[in-house]
Amino acid sequence: LGRLRRGLEKTRQGFVSGLLENLGDDPLTPEVLDDLETLLLRADAGVQATDQVLDALRQRMNVEVVDPAEGIRFLKEQLRGLLDAPIAASGAQLIAPERDRLNIWLMVGVNGVGKTTTLGKLANLAVRSGYSALIAAADTFRAAAVQQVQVWGKRSDVPVVSNPSSNADPAAVVFDAIGAARSRGTDLLLVDTAGRLQTKHNLMEELQKVRKIIDRLAPEAKVESLLILDASQGQNGLRQAMAFAKAAGLTGVVITKLDGTARGGVALAVSSEAGLPIRFIGAGEGIRDLRPFNSYEFVEALLA
Ligand code: GDP
Repeated sequence: LGRLRRGLEKTRQGFVSGLLENLGDDPLTPEVLDDLETLLLRADAGVQATDQVLDALRQRMNVEVVDPAEGIRFLKEQLRGLLDAPIAASGAQLIAPERDRLNIWLMVGVNGVGKTTTLGKLANLAVRSGYSALIAAADTFRAAAVQQVQVWGKRSDVPVVSNPSSNADPAAVVFDAIGAARSRGTDLLLVDTAGRLQTKHNLMEELQKVRKIIDRLAPEAKVESLLILDASQGQNGLRQAMAFAKAAGLTGVVITKLDGTARGGVALAVSSEAGLPIRFIGAGEGIRDLRPFNSYEFVEALLA
């Protein structure tokens, strides 16, 4: 929790100090709620999540006097509720590779959000947790991307399937990787995908193609399609989530770069507006700076 707290320091500072400054010892007032609204919006929690939290607090205040300690407790409960709703709807509290079957986790997101880093961290987490992993370097448009993935693979002793040809088809790489995963009896195949934004339409088409190929070639596999979102991009990330959700059949989100930004509230916007479960959070560049998302931990790190 200490590590997470440090990671969320910037969001926490803006949020907690702003909140506590105005709370005092008196019962909550409408003015305090106005401040809370500003703080939530400033942390990029989005209008929908912010409204929902404030409505709940206002209703509560209509029926009884709410002291600051109870206000904070209630606020935490509301925030957890928002973060947990899509997780509960997905039917799984955590995602972990299922034993005795091929699991394929597709990493999608625009360049620079930390997609490759997250893939490297996930490969490492899988190996540390006793799973065998394999990486498919299906971002075939940037030669550097393949190299970068190979570096991450080496760090955890995870083999990487790639195609040396400069204009290789990502679907062909995925095809090879699924074959390799089957013959090795791999638990978890992590698939990197292209994220260039300039030709957005092609990107979405390509993703759809990769997704289709996975569904067709490996119908027995358990597939997770994870959108990697850079917390520092705030609300912009939400728009990305909406765009990618259709093309890639997203099943979850990884929020990266929570360290170094005051916009950690975007986790709330993603849960509430995109309705997507947050599965992991990244708060640092190190190989271990990734943890499974837990709403209780997150809210405590934000508000404790
Ligand atoms: P990609 O283009 O989406 O594959 O992004 P990369 O994985 O190459 O990451 C882009 C930059 O963000 C690199 O410098 C990473 O070290 C950095 N990065 C990735 N995740 C995090 C994170 O959680 N925290 C911080 N501070 N930096 C990160």
